[in-house]
Amino acid sequence: MRVPCFECALRRTGAFKPINDLELAFINEMKRDHLVCPPGGEIIAAGQDQAELYTLYAGWAIRCKTLPDGRRQILNILLPGDLIGLQGAMFEAAAYSVEAITEVQLCLLPRRKMWSLFDEDIRKLGPFDAIYLDLHGAMVAENTEDGEGELLKRIRTLVGGAMPIVASLDYHANLTPDMASLATALVGYRTYPHIDMAVTGKRAAELLDRLLKEKRPVYRAYRQLDFLIPLVWQCTFIEPAKSIFDLVGELEAGEKSHNQGIVSVTHTPGFPPADIAQCGPALVVYGHDKEAVEAAADKLAQTVKAQERAFAGEHRPFVNLQHFDGFLQERKIDLIRGEPGAALV
Ligand SMILES: [Zn+2]
Repeated sequence: MRVPCFECALRRTGAFKPINDLELAFINEMKRDHLVCPPGGEIIAAGQDQAELYTLYAGWAIRCKTLPDGRRQILNILLPGDLIGLQGAMFEAAAYSVEAITEVQLCLLPRRKMWSLFDEDIRKLGPFDAIYLDLHGAMVAENTEDGEGELLKRIRTLVGGAMPIVASLDYHANLTPDMASLATALVGYRTYPHIDMAVTGKRAAELLDRLLKEKRPVYRAYRQLDFLIPLVWQCTFIEPAKSIFDLVGELEAGEKSHNQGIVSVTHTPGFPPADIAQCGPALVVYGHDKEAVEAAADKLAQTVKAQERAFAGEHRPFVNLQHFDGFLQERKIDLIRGEPGAALV
């Protein structure tokens, strides 16, 4: 029983985001089959390198993994509308298995089509003057430790080395050498908690505009630090991160005579739980004056390095609310208390 996408019962429930007729026709053409799998049936086997891509149309399934000691770990439960096998479709082999709990119906989509969807879009919609990407920067998959580096590599292959590619990054990016060398420029958040997403996007867009208008070659200096900064010590409201990010702003501001040649400064403290070889703090400085760029990168790297011990501080939990109030007052942070059910905005 093949259900055409035009008659999809799930789409009528609002499970998917609304799309236009053209997009619906495209998905319908992409759908190769409509399968039924009995309870307990294996939809995708772990290690299967030709795993297909499915949408769960009806029934329940689980994504699970067999641990080295033989126990089975259920990663999540899949419900109608969930996509199955995306990891296997983007990369080489599935890292876990997917099993039906009830009888399930599946829409089969050809796995090899996935990357080609992006690939075709870039080819079809181009040529471009420049590319802006809104990335996080700490993507890790079981078969690639540098998701953003891989993405940038694939895009570079399609658009060539001369195309300006500017990407904004989260504060917690693990900024790898590949990311730095594949992007024309990377622009990171400067706050944790993150409150400067829009500002960062603006800075990235302005930089891209400047690169396009000026067409001046941009020199890059990249540094990685040789230690990890725990997430709990990365807050930019408090030291040592506060002063470091003040310096990032000062170096970029270019008001001081020796900074004239600098156009952008980004420091990413890193995301230690990713636990990959390229984990940790890094920084990248861009500018037209090689000497000034190298000097700024060295200064920032030395400043971060000098704080290594300060990042290893002890955390004292708040024993009561008065302590917490004191903490907030000291830092001029307002705490708004609301009754349950009160509208915040
Ligand atoms: Zn973050």
